[in-house]
Order: sequence, then C-alpha cells, then structure tokens
Amino acid sequence: MAGLLAIQVARLRRQRGARLQVAASAPLDPARFAPATPADSRVPEGAEAHCELVLESYDGGVRVTGRVFAPWQGVCRRCTVAVGGTLEVAVEERFCDPPARGEPEDEEAFVITDDVVDLGPLVDEAVLAELPLAPLCREDCLGLCPTCGADRNLEPCSCEPPRDPRWASLDVLRSSF
Ligand SMILES: [Zn+2]
Ligand SMILES: [Zn+2]
Repeated sequence: MAGLLAIQVARLRRQRGARLQVAASAPLDPARFAPATPADSRVPEGAEAHCELVLESYDGGVRVTGRVFAPWQGVCRRCTVAVGGTLEVAVEERFCDPPARGEPEDEEAFVITDDVVDLGPLVDEAVLAELPLAPLCREDCLGLCPTCGADRNLEPCSCEPPRDPRWASLDVLRSSF
C-alpha cells in the first residue's frame, strides 16, 4: 500500500509525547501476498487492510501502536474446506531516523524518510506475520478418512482406523488377558 499510508510527522515530532491518531484503509501490496502454494492462507485479491493506529513522538523517533484488520482465506488443514475471516493484529513498532554515518542500524525499527512515516510496509508485515499457517474449519474437525477420502464431518465411513504403532504393545497386553 505504498504511499497511501505515508504520514507526515514533522509537526508531530516538534513536541515529545505528541500523538496523532490514524484510522485508514488501504489495499495490501499484492506482490507481498502471493501464496507459494494453492493451499497457503492468503488475503483475497485486491483486499484492503484497515488500521487504527496511534503515532506518538519520542526523542528518537515515532512509536506506533494499535490494531490492523485484514480479511484472509485458506483451507482447513484436515478436511480442505474453505475457511477465512478477519485477522486482527496488535501492532507495537518504532520508526527512527536513519542511522548517522558510522552508527549501527536499528534493525528492529522502521526508518523515517524525509519526515514521513510510511505505515504501508508495517501493515503488510503485521498481516503477513499473522496469516494462519495451518487453519482449521473448527477445533474438532474430524478431517478426511486417510483410507477412502470421505469427509468424516459429513458421514462416518466404515474403514478401520489406521493402526498407530505406539499402541502395538498395548494390543499385545490386551490379547493376553
Ligand atoms: Zn475441517
Ligand atoms: Zn474411510
């Protein structure tokens, strides 16, 4: 969302502790959200993120706190039905001046360039970090039968459950009774 969330902070920075509220929506950068495989969670094409953030100036830069919201889609890792919803991501980040010559870069912080704090990359990164890697349609999803492929949420199948080698010794005990 390059540019749309670029905030001028020259005035804000004149007074330590000054705060600025930002509530805005902007499209997420599609290049950063291209899923690697069809099963990966993603944001819908053309999706917008909404952010409710507070910028606060401090001696070394600008602190950004608040929340970012974005829609997401994926497939249940057990039964492969489509799942999705709205991500809500808590944000707590810093923007700092670029390091003076010879000083080490603060790798934890975003950089203030020409008195501008660009919240776009912050929003993109916050959403990327929270995309569910292995979503479930529901906590107790029964998944697909590994033998016949039936969706066990819809209908039980009559396949024998696969034997788990960890229980083999228990079976031996049981059969000796
Ligand atoms: Zn499921
Ligand atoms: Zn089955």
